[in-house]
Amino acid sequence: MAAAPGDESRIGRYKVVLLGPPGAGKGTQAQVLCEHLNVPAISTGDMLREAVAEGSQLGRRVQEIMASGALVDDATMAEVVRERLARPDARQGFLLDGYPRTLPQARTLEGILDGMSEELDAVLLVEVPEAELVRRTLLRGRADDTENVVRERLRVYREKTEPLIGYYKERGLLRAIDGDRPIEEVTARMLVDLGVSR
Ligand code: AMP
Repeated sequence: MAAAPGDESRIGRYKVVLLGPPGAGKGTQAQVLCEHLNVPAISTGDMLREAVAEGSQLGRRVQEIMASGALVDDATMAEVVRERLARPDARQGFLLDGYPRTLPQARTLEGILDGMSEELDAVLLVEVPEAELVRRTLLRGRADDTENVVRERLRVYREKTEPLIGYYKERGLLRAIDGDRPIEEVTARMLVDLGVSR
């Protein structure tokens, strides 16, 4: 059952990472969860797409990389995330969707949080079978969602991002969630795992 909105909207200060392959529903969950947790949902993919749409220097630099399904380099992403987490709204906590995606990025995030005397509360791993991932991403139909690009993004996920599962498991932060369930059920499960609802 979905948790009723109410007291939990005042809790805030949750610092959470959503981890999982492209198409697992991280973005959808981030939109709902951020309301419950009262923290900003920060999607690095959305930030980069905005930069591309604006035609900013960053946008021009990352456009082709994104279109190919590859990852933007760690140094560029460190700058983007450092700047975003320094904004006042992130003081209340945050829900990171799409960052970190590599081990160096995970260490960068740890460093940024250390500098703020903060640490992550949890990493929610959203698990969905591969066939379903491809189906969902193609349905979404964004410009960077053609079948070849979808497959490439999955390959990159397995190679670069999956190692983060072990990294966060070792730190006792990982919570695995079955993402192959109705949206409301997945949200409810996440809220239980975060200790927001029972
Ligand atoms: P997303 O919407 O999270 O799937 O991100 C879309 C694209 O933006 C990715 O395929 C990457 O090219 C780029 N991107 C977003 N976040 C990151 C990140 N943390 N590291 C590297 N590239 C990223």
